[in-house]
Amino acid sequence: MSTTTDVIVIGAGFAGLTAARELTQQGRTVRILEARDRIAGRTWVENRMGRNLELGGTWVHWVQPHVWAEMTRYGIGVIAGPEFEKAYWWADGQRHEGPAERVLEIIDEPNKRLLEQTRELIPLPYQPLTNPAVKGVDHESVAARIDALQLDEEARQLLRTFWSLNFNGKIEDAAFTQALRWCSAASGDWMLMFEACATYKVQGGTVALAEAILADTTADLHLNTAVRRVEQNNDGVTVTTADGATHSAKAVIVTLPLNALGTVEFSPALSEGKQAAASRGQAGLGAKVWIKVKGKWDRFVAFGAEDWPINFVQSEYFDEDTTTLVAFGPDGNAVDVEDRDATQAVLEKLVPGIEVLEITGHSWVGDEYAKSTWPMHYTGYLSESLEEMQRPEGNVFLAGSDYANGWGGFIDGAIESGLTTARSVAAKVEQNKAQAAI
Ligand SMILES: Cc1cc2nc3c(=O)[nH]c(=O)nc-3n(C[C@H](O)[C@H](O)[C@H](O)COP(=O)(O)OP(=O)(O)OC[C@H]3O[C@@H](n4cnc5c(N)ncnc54)[C@H](O)[C@@H]3O)c2cc1C
Repeated sequence: MSTTTDVIVIGAGFAGLTAARELTQQGRTVRILEARDRIAGRTWVENRMGRNLELGGTWVHWVQPHVWAEMTRYGIGVIAGPEFEKAYWWADGQRHEGPAERVLEIIDEPNKRLLEQTRELIPLPYQPLTNPAVKGVDHESVAARIDALQLDEEARQLLRTFWSLNFNGKIEDAAFTQALRWCSAASGDWMLMFEACATYKVQGGTVALAEAILADTTADLHLNTAVRRVEQNNDGVTVTTADGATHSAKAVIVTLPLNALGTVEFSPALSEGKQAAASRGQAGLGAKVWIKVKGKWDRFVAFGAEDWPINFVQSEYFDEDTTTLVAFGPDGNAVDVEDRDATQAVLEKLVPGIEVLEITGHSWVGDEYAKSTWPMHYTGYLSESLEEMQRPEGNVFLAGSDYANGWGGFIDGAIESGLTTARSVAAKVEQNKAQAAI
């Protein structure tokens, strides 16, 4: 089978859906080729353990302008998460507990010191390379920057866990500039940044927003259609799918996550810069799991040691005789989302008396269409790769949260990138048309 359209969008996550909507609303024909049997990519609402759970991206905030504008457009509100009363944390080889504010107090000054150059180095979050001085710190890791603060052991360990949570990965090679970028997007206020990351959920789930965008496009959506090859030719592009079918278009928008980009063959090959960035990948290689425990627990947060398979837990849903927790760990391969006993062993070190009943989640790092969780970049990515990833090659454009300027790593970044890429594609298609007419 071979069919033609104006633009092919590979991937029906937030970047792909947004780009498709923008282009169809300008009157262009768009075909979306999506490998999975569902839309929304690294966001995924599933009924598990008796409730609709967000297995991927979840939280949004009004300081994230693109996602907020979409929610306003479709009349979708937010649901506030629980206000925490209590905290547990692991430091100096032992468990500590106290009021929730205590944990924030311990890392407040250290975080302010860590991020004090935010507004100087990244004054404009959506133009992260405006100040060339940012390149001078792009090879420094968050871990090294934290250690250089010479904090007492409790603050050092807690701050390292906090940033390992933010990166959903190990922080030894995690870019310090990525921390600055997050903080810059929150106007230099780390507490606002933290609130933006994990407080307000989308009413009806992230899928409600994805479906609203899909309903607003006339794009032709093909699910269960994995792309294997993208070839540029004189007429535009030809895309070949796993079943051998070909689809032709004037241009293609590829929204594959950075870590999955190498699964598609490009002819001609993508630039060396893009290939190098894709083969290094990004640091968000951790786990997100949902855990049902016995009894109605307090509203608590818990920070484990940085290298525990689960190093952050918060209580999220409270029923009569069970509580559902959401938890994260830095290494997706270290967490078996079906292993109740392993989860019990970690949790009881942190929260005395806790009894795990069930655990569930999705292995995003083991998922061939993601190979990662949320995009958090390694040292050097900002200065060496970001602009290159955003640079189209002929009629091939990349879009996605991994390539966003502002809240890269978030749903907001995916929408930002979908919008900007759709604009560039429309301009290129017009330019090609004008040249053909000469
Ligand atoms: C566990 C987890 C927690 C997160 N938490 C948050 C959060 O709280 N708040 C927040 O804002 N963000 C969060 N994120 C990040 C957010 O979900 C992502 O940044 C965003 O959804 C990415 O959108 P995207 O369109 O750029 O990429 P994706 O959603 O990954 O979309 C890419 C699409 O391409 C498809 N695809 C891949 N390969 C092929 C192929 N060969 N052929 C065809 N299709 C293909 C994929 O199936 C996918 O649908 C989280 C992510 C994860 C995984």
